[in-house]
Amino acid sequence: MHTITLIKGDGIGPSIMDEAVKVINATGVKIEWEEAYAGLSAFEKFGTPLPDATMTSFDKTRVAFKGPLTTVVGTGFRSINVALRQQYDLYANVRPAKSWAGIKTRYDDVDIVIVRENTEGLYVGLEHYLSPKKDIAESLAVVTRSASERIVEYAFQYARDNNRQKVTVCHKANILKFSQGLFLDVAREVAARYPDINFDEKIIDAACMHMVMNPKQFDVVVTTNMFGDILSDLTAGLVGGLGLIPGANIGADAALFEAVHGSAPDIAGKNLANPTAVIMAGAMMLSHIGETEAAERVVKAVEKVVNEGIYVTPDLNPNTKAGTVEMGSAIAAAME
Ligand code: NAD
Repeated sequence: MHTITLIKGDGIGPSIMDEAVKVINATGVKIEWEEAYAGLSAFEKFGTPLPDATMTSFDKTRVAFKGPLTTVVGTGFRSINVALRQQYDLYANVRPAKSWAGIKTRYDDVDIVIVRENTEGLYVGLEHYLSPKKDIAESLAVVTRSASERIVEYAFQYARDNNRQKVTVCHKANILKFSQGLFLDVAREVAARYPDINFDEKIIDAACMHMVMNPKQFDVVVTTNMFGDILSDLTAGLVGGLGLIPGANIGADAALFEAVHGSAPDIAGKNLANPTAVIMAGAMMLSHIGETEAAERVVKAVEKVVNEGIYVTPDLNPNTKAGTVEMGSAIAAAME
């Protein structure tokens, strides 16, 4: 029996997480779900976006399955996603984007894994105003040798373990000579320790252009926090949209699995949200806890339903009659 902390989240979160739990339970793997709360819904319920009980659960289970959380733009509390990643030192954010046979996009052979540094860079939360009138703001990017080394190591080891040929580091060391320069220097040092894996380096702006024009040249991509955040939405766009891309936040002794997308308030409560990304995140989680056979069955079932294109949400097929619930049920049924 595995015990997993379940955070359903905000907006479309509860509806897609219900489908993901339905699919994971249908594998037959014995999981005790410990429900906990975070984000806007926790704030409304308990007066805090990250209740102690949630931390207590994650402290114990060390594995969390999380729906998207709403972070109010500009004002209000800090991002709870960022807080959780920092608190549990979930340093590697792994976001695979692969073409689907049944989804028509500009390319049919995209297979890119973004490995994003998840604990520092511009997302450390060191921001303040420099003037009483609040007309000058400063945000600090923190890049350390140790965090850079472990994320680049992670990317190369991931490439080796998953039969991948190449790691590309994306950076902006031409302008940000210190912070990005350090990251690039460390990447080159680590690359030298992996002679069996090809190494490439690209300046982030050029990388975006190359990725849109010729995504095939990318395999595993390693980059700093904010660039990874942006690039993974770009790769989502290449393979059919945000509803499809899972993310694993991996630390040395804890891991959290979620979708790349957010709480999508524009479609919340309408049975329109695509549950694929969280279900695929669930498959990554099953692999992580050693249930690889169940993980493969989930992936195959998702592929079947997505590629058939019938019981899918409208982002995948505008003529569909199905929604979130019907798609989740079809995936669960496809495993039998
Ligand atoms: P979003 O990812 O929620 O939505 C962007 C667009 O993609 C919207 O049009 C939405 O309808 C669509 N979309 C997203 N997920 C979808 C799905 N599963 N199926 C179909 N369409 C989907 O991004 P946003 O609107 O910029 O952010 C909304 C909120 O989510 C913000 O508060 C943001 O901070 C938060 N957010 C949270 C996470 C997280 O919890 N990991 C990640 C990103 C954004």
